[in-house]
Amino acid sequence: MITKFIKRILRRDPMVQHTQANNTGAPKRIPKKTHRIDPHLLSKNAVKVTHTLQQAGYEAFIVGGAVRDLVLGIGPKDFDVATNATPDQVQKLFRKARLIGRRFQIVHVTFFGKGHPEIIEVSTFRALLDNAGDHVAESGRILRDNVWGSQGEDAARRDFSINAMYYDPSSETVLDYHGGMADIQKKTLRMIGDPTKRYREDPIRMLRAIRFAAKTGFTLETATRAPIAKLSALLQDVPAARLFDEIIKLLMSGYSWAAIQGLREAGLHHGVLPLLDHILDSGEGSKDANHFVKLALANTDQRIQSGKSVSAGFLFATLLWPDLLKNWNANIAKGMSNLPALQDAMDDTIATQSSGMVIQRRFESDMREIWSMQPRFEKRVGRYPYRLIESPRFRAGYDFLLLRCGTGEKDPALGQWWTDFIATDPDGQDALMASAKNAVGNSASPAKRRRRRKPKSATPETPSMGEPS
Ligand code: ATP
Ligand code: MG
Repeated sequence: MITKFIKRILRRDPMVQHTQANNTGAPKRIPKKTHRIDPHLLSKNAVKVTHTLQQAGYEAFIVGGAVRDLVLGIGPKDFDVATNATPDQVQKLFRKARLIGRRFQIVHVTFFGKGHPEIIEVSTFRALLDNAGDHVAESGRILRDNVWGSQGEDAARRDFSINAMYYDPSSETVLDYHGGMADIQKKTLRMIGDPTKRYREDPIRMLRAIRFAAKTGFTLETATRAPIAKLSALLQDVPAARLFDEIIKLLMSGYSWAAIQGLREAGLHHGVLPLLDHILDSGEGSKDANHFVKLALANTDQRIQSGKSVSAGFLFATLLWPDLLKNWNANIAKGMSNLPALQDAMDDTIATQSSGMVIQRRFESDMREIWSMQPRFEKRVGRYPYRLIESPRFRAGYDFLLLRCGTGEKDPALGQWWTDFIATDPDGQDALMASAKNAVGNSASPAKRRRRRKPKSATPETPSMGEPS
């Protein structure tokens, strides 16, 4: 009895920090027969977290994008939990729980199973901010963010109505504060509250709007869409690392091509990333370059949708490939020889694209490895192919080559040769190398002969998107 009482006091104490629930309105309670969430799509660990919190007397729900995806019948890629327990209280209930963040603390509860460890992110209901004080910058952007609130407030702080639903796995009920369920039925993406104000608070929401519209195929409600073009400059205030993470999410969403079209249509064209400017400006660059980027993104989308992995380094290597080729060819035209020309072109391409954006460097070594492997795929004799397949990043370089073959930049026979070479035994590999030698002897000879005769004035073999050879 006493312990129960003490527990209650202990639980209540930090709740002093919770602001009074304000009039955010009661949620709609949506029963199973309406939301039809398939329990098989739930993460057992997320359910464990909500149960443990509920057993300890707290409120706890699966929340956000996971509920949206569950209602849409999609298996969520990660699960977030929202609760009225404070981070300290949450941490005490789980063995593997870590407090994360300074501005707004959340708890990562980790579960180790057969595959990858699963992290369930648990956050305490957030309070609504009044528009005054040091919480908000002049532009309206939220700066400080550390007061707990009621569930209704927490819901009002979320971005879109479809992202503001709470699912209780015990009662199998969805709590819907902002008409998310109706919006799902209408296939509409609607910002909660006044869209202009919400974009000013956090301009990243503009990019999220485009990403979710692309992912769900929903239409942006008129009022949600209208202010975006006018407010696009606000993205320049956002810290570069956050912007970059959001762009990666967008490009790796499995719907990157649709999202990029969405950015263009919404007028979010410029200043997001030099790289994106490049992709979005259809006027810039050759038709072939756009064709390559389009196919590369379609290929990435397909891989992601079928559950395969794509590294950000690989993706950037593809997006910058047309630039790299242009620089590489230009260097050769200036008289540099092939490999130094490539090295120099890599430096140039990366320097131009990452100006003002240091973060991109973390992918730099991946990109360089993938690119510098490409001329090595041409050498199909002697020890070269064996050495190449032993390189640690061979698989990425090979996938990249296949992409180039798929876009018509390279003869598909080259990709097929490597596919066969990997799959066959040493005798088969000898035969393949012999056939490659013959092919080189036949097909490359005119160019080679020409070059041998006039070494200085030789123009590299540069078909429109071709790689210098
Ligand atoms: P996904 O994980 O599929 O990309 P998501 O909706 O789960 O989509 P997260 O970034 O994981 O997106 O965020 C989880 C939830 O947190 C969102 O559904 C939303 O309710 C809230 N949220 C995230 N970012 C913002 C933001 N910038 N403004 C308001 N709410 C946000
Ligand atoms: Mg999520």
